[in-house]
Amino acid sequence: MINYLLSLGLLLVGLTSLNAQARPDQPVVLASVHPLALVAASIVPNERLKVLVPPGMTPHDFSLRPSDIDLIQSADIIVWSGVDNEPYLRGFAKRWPEKIWLNAADFRTPGMTSDPHLWFAPELVKQLQARLAGYLKQDAAPFARSVDEALKKSDEQLSGLQSRGFFVFHRAYDHWVNALQLNQLGAFTLSPEHRPGLRTLRQMRKQLERGDVVCVFSEPEFSPALVNRLTDGLDIGRGELDPLAMHIALDQDGYANMLVDMAKQAKQCLSATLSVESEPKVAE
Ligand SMILES: [Zn+2]
Repeated sequence: MINYLLSLGLLLVGLTSLNAQARPDQPVVLASVHPLALVAASIVPNERLKVLVPPGMTPHDFSLRPSDIDLIQSADIIVWSGVDNEPYLRGFAKRWPEKIWLNAADFRTPGMTSDPHLWFAPELVKQLQARLAGYLKQDAAPFARSVDEALKKSDEQLSGLQSRGFFVFHRAYDHWVNALQLNQLGAFTLSPEHRPGLRTLRQMRKQLERGDVVCVFSEPEFSPALVNRLTDGLDIGRGELDPLAMHIALDQDGYANMLVDMAKQAKQCLSATLSVESEPKVAE
């Protein structure tokens, strides 16, 4: 009996160390949303990286499905935005405290806008990624450099356009707007599930008619009908921004690619009416 117990004990020790060998260098990382996965993808291989909120859904009204619970359970590190922004993860953070819950909101700095789309705050994202790199014993410097380069490129792209006013579809881009010092003049709605009120729309239409706003961004998940109606008959640049950057591939450069892509979109939209204005009208 003692022998049996001993060998069982040895077997268990063996199994545990096998387990320990397979896991620590290559933990499974779960990002709550795609843009946070873009950040993690800088140092986490795709086969070790999962995303919770699937394409076509927004974190604003997300609720967990049974399969998501397995996803959370199998993760070692969860990159998320905290209970205030992602209440659907509250219970799990309590239930599995042994997992690493890497909360982007912990990297907020005083005076920062309260916009919950923290992945658009490049400086915060660098801190977040550095913490993740620490857990994974990897170098954070290449990512920080790539973010700085993407911001520099964005500044160059948008040079001369920073003061041009624009509307966004939902209030998701404040951090990015601040980082690049752009002139956002309003949003149709705070959260995409809520339709804007008539008063807001009337006010926005007035602003558009006054010419303060040269560009309006819609979002791929929502019908542009509302934006079309609002800009009807006016010469306004139109562009699209995706708050979840779903079209950006999950790879090492994904986050920087997202920033560069946004600047490209913004440049196109903000300069759309410029080219019309600068062309001589007499030729027509
Ligand atoms: Zn949002």
